[in-house]
Amino acid sequence: MSEFALAASVLLARPSDDAIFLVHRSASLRFMGGFVALPGGKVDPADTDIRYCAARELFEETGVLLGNTTVNPSDLRRAVLAGQAKVPDIAEELLQPAGRLITPPFSPMRFDTSFFVALLPPGQIAEVWPGELDSGEWWHIRDALNAWKRGELLLSPPTYSILELISDHRSHDWAGLLQRELDLVATRRVPPIWFSPGVRMIPLDCAGLPPTQFMNSFIVGTGPRILFDAGPADPGEQEALLEEAAGVQGVILTHHHPDHVGAAQRVRDELGIPVWSHFDAAGRLPGLTIDRFIDDGTILSLGELELHVLHTPGHAAGHLAFWEPKHRLLFASDLVSTVSSLIIAPDDGDLATYIASLHRIQELPVRLLLPSHGPPTTRGHALINRTLEHRARREEQLLVALAAGKRDIRELALELYRGSTEETLRLAELQIESGLIKLRREGRL
Ligand SMILES: [Zn+2]
Repeated sequence: MSEFALAASVLLARPSDDAIFLVHRSASLRFMGGFVALPGGKVDPADTDIRYCAARELFEETGVLLGNTTVNPSDLRRAVLAGQAKVPDIAEELLQPAGRLITPPFSPMRFDTSFFVALLPPGQIAEVWPGELDSGEWWHIRDALNAWKRGELLLSPPTYSILELISDHRSHDWAGLLQRELDLVATRRVPPIWFSPGVRMIPLDCAGLPPTQFMNSFIVGTGPRILFDAGPADPGEQEALLEEAAGVQGVILTHHHPDHVGAAQRVRDELGIPVWSHFDAAGRLPGLTIDRFIDDGTILSLGELELHVLHTPGHAAGHLAFWEPKHRLLFASDLVSTVSSLIIAPDDGDLATYIASLHRIQELPVRLLLPSHGPPTTRGHALINRTLEHRARREEQLLVALAAGKRDIRELALELYRGSTEETLRLAELQIESGLIKLRREGRL
């Protein structure tokens, strides 16, 4: 079985003015929730093939039917959505293949998506019924791209890349063009992943423990550009990073952990750029030349982006996060993750300051939170809340276990993290130790 879920997306075109129909995904969706994207979805077991999947998704999501029916289309759509009817088979020529893309490894949910171009059949209208999607709209491609640049439209990265590729072309040419271009993208070691204007994500294998094996570096800026984190220790992954980061003005290390700094010296030497970090991180990186210290309150002007440096210790001393007010972006590094909870180990972490840092970033207006591990999320505040609740629950469990007479860290780990592997238990012991230090400092132990 493929490790990727098969999916189909449709570029629905209005041939009269070459507009494209874009849908707003509900924020509650696990994959790309809150983003504006193309209609489409995963292959159903009942789908006869990928083309049928595309036609079915298009009909379910927009009501546009690429075939004939004797039934009232709205009634048919209701019945299809309720699982009581099937979308009629479509005429092959109504869906033109337009290439494939595979979700890069930043996301635990990975899709092998086939794209198709469909021209809106005469007499039909596209209309979203709220549910998995909030709304849908026709866009002239240039207008959509300009709205994205102004920060008014949050396009999913593949949707943005596709719109750029087809922006000056007639809808009749989209399919052929995309097929050629997406084939080229597939050959690239690191595909272009744009989450916002001037924000490119570069997920690389940084040899962390799964599910945090991949770490997202970012190249940020619309004039001068800065690289956030240089993680990989593997020479091949380092090569990829060096290639993509050519031309940046500096590299900022968000903290000192190995999966964030593994390529820092090489990036400094081979690109000839300075390395910046917080003072407290620099002290934990012997042997690495840090050219400049940055701290809370520093503002980095990177073209149209203005990054506010936030010193957010707790996960690590000298941990930095970055907030961009215009597009309301928060580069959270390892304060939170969308794929796992993060370790607060007592040698360099501190649970109480970690929680204070979380409370601090919770106050910021954030539309898109970009973590180091896992996909960026439009529900940053919910994620921070969940993380705080998770910590509070763990503390409660710890107090209960202590009250029940458990005294030994191993005993506590076995109790609180029941059923865990030996590897997880070792990490759990570190978490528990951090929890005990916090309770002792607060006079609660
Ligand atoms: Zn870390």
